[in-house]
Amino acid sequence: MGTVNVVNVAAKHKLAWYQKLYFYSIGNGLWITLKHFVKAAFLKGAVTLEFPEKRRKYSSRFRGMHSMKRDEQGRERCTSCFCCMWICPADAIHIEAGLVTPEIQHLHPEDKYAKKFEIDLLRCIFCGLCEEACPKGAIYLDGPAEMAADNREDLILTKERMMEKSGGPILGERK
Ligand code: SF4
Ligand code: SF4
Repeated sequence: MGTVNVVNVAAKHKLAWYQKLYFYSIGNGLWITLKHFVKAAFLKGAVTLEFPEKRRKYSSRFRGMHSMKRDEQGRERCTSCFCCMWICPADAIHIEAGLVTPEIQHLHPEDKYAKKFEIDLLRCIFCGLCEEACPKGAIYLDGPAEMAADNREDLILTKERMMEKSGGPILGERK
């Protein structure tokens, strides 16, 4: 394995006298800002978009947001087995399991259900492992790709929001 000679590296990156002055860095930063300003204001070179009037095109390989599914009888497919939570490499899924009582038995196929199911989109890397790991076909990354939000709470996907995204109470298989 190679070694790095720290003394040589430091000598190579030795700052010139003018670089040691704060004014040099401040001036350099202002110059970069000015360049971007002129480019954006007069040369139509803005790198930002006027959202939501204009939208960036997503790659065709982008999977989309998570949605949760119900079965043919309208019952939630998720049985709170925790497989998706354990496999998630970004630690983005939080589930709290609940026991199915007689009052809600018609909404759930087994004796456990996800009382709380949240996905933190600020952590998610859209790898799709949760979809692959789910033994019940309850979660898919087939929702819309719209992710703009002006606060952190809107970037937490709840079970209710994911059910809405998947389009109503009774859902069929993934298209
Ligand atoms: S897509 Fe990947 S990172 Fe995102 S919640 Fe699923 S397993 Fe976690
Ligand atoms: S979404 Fe699927 S993998 Fe995740 S807890 Fe529910 S049933 Fe298990």
